[in-house]
This record gives sequence, C-alpha cells and structure tokens, in this order.
Amino acid sequence: MREEKGHIDSVYCGSGVDGRGLRCVVFFTGCNLRCPFCHNPETLFKQGKETSAGELCDKLKRYKPYFRKGGVTLSGGEPFLQKKFLLALTALLKEAGIHVVAETNGQIADGEIVSALDGVIVDVKNQETDDLSSYEKFFSLCERRGCDFRITNVLVPGKNDAKEKLAALAALAGKFGKSVKLLPFRKLCTDKYRELGMDFPYENVREAEAEDEERAYKLLCAE
Ligand code: SF4
Repeated sequence: MREEKGHIDSVYCGSGVDGRGLRCVVFFTGCNLRCPFCHNPETLFKQGKETSAGELCDKLKRYKPYFRKGGVTLSGGEPFLQKKFLLALTALLKEAGIHVVAETNGQIADGEIVSALDGVIVDVKNQETDDLSSYEKFFSLCERRGCDFRITNVLVPGKNDAKEKLAALAALAGKFGKSVKLLPFRKLCTDKYRELGMDFPYENVREAEAEDEERAYKLLCAE
C-alpha cells in the first residue's frame, strides 16, 4: 500500500476553509472537467510530482499535533481520478488516526472511495447547465454509504445567481437535508492562467461582491 504512486501538484498546510478544523490540503493533478471559473488551472493535467502514498503520509503525519479536530483534505484537480493512490493514502492516514475528507466535483460516483473517506465536499457546477441529476446520484450514493457530505457552489454573477438557479440548488440540497455554502467567484487566479499560457474563460466576468452573496443566501433560504 505504501508503494502506491500518485501525482500531486502541492501540499498546503494551514487551511481553515477546506473541511472542519485546521487542514493540510493535498492538491492532486488531473481533472475530468474544465470549469470556466477554475481557480487551480495548474492542477488540470496529470503532471506534477510523482510521490508514493507512504512518503506523502509520513510528511502529513508531522502536522498531526496541530490538527486537533482538523486533518487532511484531498483536493485538486479531481482526486477521485487517482483511485488506487487515494485509497492507499486514505487508509494510511486513517491508520495514523487522521481525519480525511475529499473535495470533489461529484461526477465520479464511486462507492468504494466514498466509503473509505470520513467525508466529502461536493462543489455543484451549475454555472453553465441546469442539469443537476449527476449530483443527486452522487448525494444518494453518499447517503447509502453513510458518508458525511457538504455542498458548496461557486457563486458567479450573471451565471448562476438567478432566482430559478438558486431555487433548483436549494431544492436539491433540501432533498438531502443539507444547506449550501456559497463560494464567491474570485479572479485571483488570472496570473496563473497567463503563466500557463491558458485562456481564463471567465476573465471578463465580474467577481461576486458581499451584496451578491447576501442576496443569494436570502434566495436560497427562501426555498
Ligand atoms: S472540477 Fe475543480 S479542478 Fe476541475 S476544472 Fe472544475 S474547478 Fe477546476
């Protein structure tokens, strides 16, 4: 298990927004989507450092005294794409008593992965589509497998902040007794796109302001 190899971009320790408590975030590389607002374009392709699950676990274990109620968050990219590596790393971390959650786009409904994790954070991508059926399938899987899940959504002005969009999102979350955490769209990643020689599809879309967020929460709660 320790020998299982995977590709990661980086590890960031000290996040307070990627799950409960203080987290070390592992950014897996490779993604099956190309969201036009993606904040981590450097993780889209399966390149980056190759590491073994054992080596990475040993590195993460050094932070254990600081975690308290926190732990490790597997992010990316789409961590579910590197299944064997994810399962090996998760098993080693849990053996060491570390809480492990994954951030996912919810498009790979894999029961084995979901059952191995302590939780998942699913970001609903409804900016360019109204079809939320894949998310319903994923949430049902989490429920069946007893996996705790949270729902996030990047709020993009003019893309998914209309009343109907928010009502559909609230209805989906409500079916599972969940609320939605909105993540205001930001463009801090613009330079990363430039450095990579890539187009940032939402470069000309405005960022979400506090008033957009407030209005969207009111609409979500009205449902
Ligand atoms: S799923 Fe996440 S990492 Fe992949 S393109 Fe979308 S925002 Fe970027």
